[in-house]
Amino acid sequence: MAATLTRLSKPSSSSSSSLSHFRRFISSSAATASETTNPPPSPFTFNSSTTALSRKDPKDRNVQWVFLGCPGVGKGTYASRLCTLLGVPHIATGDLVREELASSGPLSHQLTEIVNQGKLVSDEIIISLLSKRLEAGEAKGESGFILDGFPRTIRQAEILEGVTDIDLVVNLKLRKDVLLEKCLGRRICSECGKNFNVASINVKAENGNPGMSMAPLLPPSHCMSKLVTRSDDTETVVTERLRIYDEKSQPVEEFYRSRGKILEFDLPGGIPASWPKLLEALNLDDYEEKQSAAA
Ligand code: AMP
Repeated sequence: MAATLTRLSKPSSSSSSSLSHFRRFISSSAATASETTNPPPSPFTFNSSTTALSRKDPKDRNVQWVFLGCPGVGKGTYASRLCTLLGVPHIATGDLVREELASSGPLSHQLTEIVNQGKLVSDEIIISLLSKRLEAGEAKGESGFILDGFPRTIRQAEILEGVTDIDLVVNLKLRKDVLLEKCLGRRICSECGKNFNVASINVKAENGNPGMSMAPLLPPSHCMSKLVTRSDDTETVVTERLRIYDEKSQPVEEFYRSRGKILEFDLPGGIPASWPKLLEALNLDDYEEKQSAAA
């Protein structure tokens, strides 16, 4: 991880062009995929485009990380904190889907049904939403990223691997019973969009799993009256999302594990216990100090 710190301190002159390649490649993958019916094309059909891509030396760009983990584990919370620390965009495909739903655009009716059943949106739609997000970011001069909630299928992972290098994959882990409680306790401020949690979790050690306590993450008073619950955070839908994670997304963990890219991280508790430990695992515990010393 020492290399990570070196990398973080370097300017990122070429990240934008690598994102541009990503965007072009995934757009063409998605377009071709949606034109073709059964069987879907393999991302490797696009080898000619892939070879045209330039893969930048990690020293010359910002971090390109992925956060994996079951629904409710806290990917958004920890990814967004790290993004603030590292100065890279936090790109959560779940947020892109919810923005599309809220926009009442052409896809919104179809997406509402899929999301409310706890199913995955098609690879083509998700890649098209991600392409648009990257394009908008590129126009603003963004570089590097932490992806949260993508890739969620092996095919998405293959497409991503076909277009750019992922430096590190952080796999967040938590007991399943805690995941359910956390999803049911999740609240979002409808005005500022921040995530909170009203669940007070206190589970005993059981079947080899450690006991765990997590205090609620309560909103400031000005958000209190504006809290909403995600429509897919009901017990039935969360149970289905967890099942789909095991079926479709757990193989993605193995995909990155076999490439030696994964950092397994068992959350020891809530944010106060987990955040310092995560920074330590990423060798970023003294990152802020190093940054100000270098300034
Ligand atoms: P999340 O906020 O990450 O839990 O995502 C909310 C919902 O958006 C998921 O249950 C899926 O329906 C959809 N979604 C988000 N990311 C993806 C993805 N990478 N692939 C397919 N569907 C996704």
